[in-house]
Amino acid sequence: MLAVRLDGDTVVDERRTSNPSGRIPVADALTATVGEMLTDDVDAVGVGIAGLVEWPEGIFVWGPHVAGTGLHLRNHLESAFGIPAVVDNDANAAAHAEHTRGSARGYDHVVLVTLGTGIGGAVITDGRLYRGGSFAGEWGHTQFERNGERCACGKRGCWETVASAPALERLAADFVARNPEGTLAVRLSGQAITGQAVTRAADEGDETARGLVAQVGADLGLGLCNLIATLDPQIVVVGGGLGSVGESLLGPARRVAADAIHGGSHRMLPPIVVAEHGPSAGAIGAAMMAADLLSGTLDLERGS
Ligand SMILES: [Zn+2]
Repeated sequence: MLAVRLDGDTVVDERRTSNPSGRIPVADALTATVGEMLTDDVDAVGVGIAGLVEWPEGIFVWGPHVAGTGLHLRNHLESAFGIPAVVDNDANAAAHAEHTRGSARGYDHVVLVTLGTGIGGAVITDGRLYRGGSFAGEWGHTQFERNGERCACGKRGCWETVASAPALERLAADFVARNPEGTLAVRLSGQAITGQAVTRAADEGDETARGLVAQVGADLGLGLCNLIATLDPQIVVVGGGLGSVGESLLGPARRVAADAIHGGSHRMLPPIVVAEHGPSAGAIGAAMMAADLLSGTLDLERGS
């Protein structure tokens, strides 16, 4: 969990804590973290959380990576701290940051994909966040492979089972188990096989690690191609912990998307770029939404 305090658009304090486990209710963990960050001059609080969030009520309905259901987080925070609160899906919050003050500034049609523990998503259309009824952008759970790997959501073969940090970890663990004397096994011996460890090995030039990152990038690119065919964005922004690693992932993604898009020789693929605010975009965007709520540029009833 990442918490930031903004002064204007500038991050003046930042704290990263481990995600709440099943034993610590999410609402309590949020209250504790917000309480630690609060100073006298904080006027509003914003939260971005992975999963289904009812807008504008700020009710966390359910999410495969967060414990708890039906949590009235906005009400909870407003009564705990006595200041206005806004609670949204974390990818929507990231899209708000990237669209208003980041990589997608000036674009009217934007697809944002966060790639980390899973895949989150948000759509900006005609300059406004598109929410559907409330839950639009959950394409991490679109079906990518029939009878594929089991997803955290309980289904099989969702896109995030092949394009996420856990997918990269699984690929690396399988490879190391089959090649215990290989360079990657030697490099990763004595440490946990995490997405971060594998991307670091790739950055340091390990060919196997580069190949595994490229494989995840290719599956990212195929999914992005589907989104581009569906939504025709002017730009695709990729954020999240894994999504922000850069060219080792996005290079293969761009090549696969360019190859797979229909009418590819008659159209330009939109730019596919890293989120300017990187893995912090969700937290920064939520804080920016809180600031915009105070200034009146965000209207909770209107939804954007
Ligand atoms: Zn799923």
